Amino acid sequence: MPEGLLHRHRKATRTSGLGPRSLPKVCVTVAGPSLDRLRAAALAEIARITPAQRFLELRLDFLRPAAWRDLRGLARLVRDLRRRRCALIVTLRSIAAGGKFAGSAEEQLQILSEVAAAGSNLVDLEVESAEHLGHAAVRALRKAAPVMISFHDYRETPAGLEMALGRLHHFPADYYKLVTQSNDPLDNATVLDLLAHGRGHLVAFTMGEIGRPTRVMCLAAGSPFTYAAALRSGVPGIGQIPATLMRGLYRADRIGKRTRVFAVVGHPIGHSLSPVIHNVALADRGLDATYVACEAADFVSFWETFRSRLAGLSITMPHKEAAARAADERDPAAERAGAANTLVRRGDVWKAYNTDAIGLLRPLQKRLKLAGARVLVAGAGGAARAAVTVLGEAGCRVSIVNRTAEKAQELARELGAEVVTRESLAGTRYDAVIHTTPLGMTPNVAGCFFEPHELNTRILFETVYTPATTCLMRLAQRKGIDVISGVEMFLTQAFEQFRLWTGKKAPEKLMEDALRAALPK
Ligand code: NAP
Repeated sequence: MPEGLLHRHRKATRTSGLGPRSLPKVCVTVAGPSLDRLRAAALAEIARITPAQRFLELRLDFLRPAAWRDLRGLARLVRDLRRRRCALIVTLRSIAAGGKFAGSAEEQLQILSEVAAAGSNLVDLEVESAEHLGHAAVRALRKAAPVMISFHDYRETPAGLEMALGRLHHFPADYYKLVTQSNDPLDNATVLDLLAHGRGHLVAFTMGEIGRPTRVMCLAAGSPFTYAAALRSGVPGIGQIPATLMRGLYRADRIGKRTRVFAVVGHPIGHSLSPVIHNVALADRGLDATYVACEAADFVSFWETFRSRLAGLSITMPHKEAAARAADERDPAAERAGAANTLVRRGDVWKAYNTDAIGLLRPLQKRLKLAGARVLVAGAGGAARAAVTVLGEAGCRVSIVNRTAEKAQELARELGAEVVTRESLAGTRYDAVIHTTPLGMTPNVAGCFFEPHELNTRILFETVYTPATTCLMRLAQRKGIDVISGVEMFLTQAFEQFRLWTGKKAPEKLMEDALRAALPK
C-alpha cells in the first residue's frame, strides 16, 4: 500500500475502539424473506456453535420490502440476538452494489441507523452509498454503531485497487472490506497483498471458484475475520465455503499470521479430497497450519503468485510435469518421472518429489516379489509414467497397453518397456495389472478399461479412487483377483507427503477414516 494511503488508513481507523481481536474469526451470513425466517436462520446457526464463535452477518436486503419497513421488528431482532451474545454485522446491500435492496440511499441509512442503535456490532455500508450520503451522514451512523465501509466488484479484480482502497479510506471507519471477483490466481495475490498493511482493520478476499482459497488464506494474511455460508444461507456466492467446513476442516478460528498454509493445485480441483485428509492430519499433530484447494488452469501463473505464500504444495492433474520443471530442485523419483506431485519448501528453496511412485510401489511390494514379475500398465499418461519408472527400477518386466498406441510406444521406448496390443491380452497372464486411465472415475463410474476376458492377472491395482470401488475392481473381485484400490495408493502417497512437509509420521488411521467418510459411496 503506498505511504500516502497507508497514512490515511491509519488515521481513518485510529479512533475506533472496535479492535481486530474483538470479533470471532468466522462471520456466517444468514438471510431470509421475513423477519421470522431470518430469526430462525440466525438461531439455527447459533445453536451449532460455541458462545465464543457467535458472529453473524444479517443480510437484511434479502427480506421482503414490507419487512424493511418494520423498523421496530428489525430492532427487536437485533436486540434479541445481541442478548444471546451473538456479534452482528448488519448489511442492507443495494441493487447497485450487488445486493437486493431497492430503496434509496437515504432509506438505507434510516434502516441501518435503526438497527445500529439497537446494538449491532458493525454496520456494513457500501462505499457507493457512503459517497452518495456524504461524510456527515457516515459520521452520524458511526455514532450509533461501528461502521465497515465496503467495496465489491462482482466482475473482476480491477487494475489499480489502490483507487478502490482510497475511496474506502476517504471515510473514517472501524473496518474496511474489499471483495472482488477472481478470474486468475494473480487476482488472489493482488487482494491478499493489500492485507499486509491493513493493521487488522481490512477484510479482503476474492470471489468465485478461483478465489475460494482466499476466504481461508485471508486470515493468515491479516484479515481480522472472514465470511462463511450458513447451512441454508439462500445467499448466492460461487466460492463460498460452508461455515461447518470453515471451522471444522480449515480450523479458521485458529488461523493467524503465523499459520502455515499448505495447498493442492489442479484443474479442475473441486473433486479433490486432499484437503479432507491433510487438514485432519495437521490438526491431529497439533500444527498451526491449514490446507486449501486451489483451482488454476495455468501452473506457471499460479506458482508465480503463490510460491511465497505456501509452506508446501500437492499437485494434481494436469500440472505434475509443470511442477517438476518449476521446482528449484528435484529428488531422483521426480527427476526420472519428469513429474512431481509434491513440492517441499526449505527456506526459499522448493524441492520436487514424486510420492505417487511410493504410493504405487509400497502396496505392491506387500503382495508381490517385484524382481522378475510380469506387470501390465494400462494407460500412458502421467500415472502410467510413474508406474513404468518405479516398476522398471524394481526389476519388473513391464508391458504397456494404451488407447493411443503411439503414446504407449513413446513411453516404452523412453523407459525400456514393451507395448502390447489389446488382442494379446486374452492369451497372456500377468502377475499384476496397474490401471492408470480415468475410466470408471466419478462421474463416469460405468467406464471400465478391460473386458472380462482381457483381465488375466493375480493382482489388479486400480489407481482411480473416486469411487472407492470401481467397476473394474468389481470385475476383478468376481474373477477372484486380489485387488489393490486407488484409495490405498492415494493414502500412501499422502502419508509420505505429510512426512516430507512436517517431518512427522502421518496419523494414518485418522486420514483413512476421514477419506472413507468423504468418498462417494
Ligand atoms: P493423464 O496423464 O491424462 O493420462 C490418462 C491416460 O488415460 C492416457 O493414457 C489416456 O489415453 C487414457 N485414457 C483417458 N481416457 C480414456 C478412455 N476413455 N479410454 C481409454 N483410455 C483413456 O492422467 P494421469 O495423470 O495419468 O491420471 C490417470 C488416473 O490416475 C486418474 O484418473 C487418477 O484417478 C489416477 N491417479 C490416482 C492416484 C492415486 O493416488 N490413487 C494418483 C495419480 C493418478 P490416450 O493416451 O489414448 O489419451
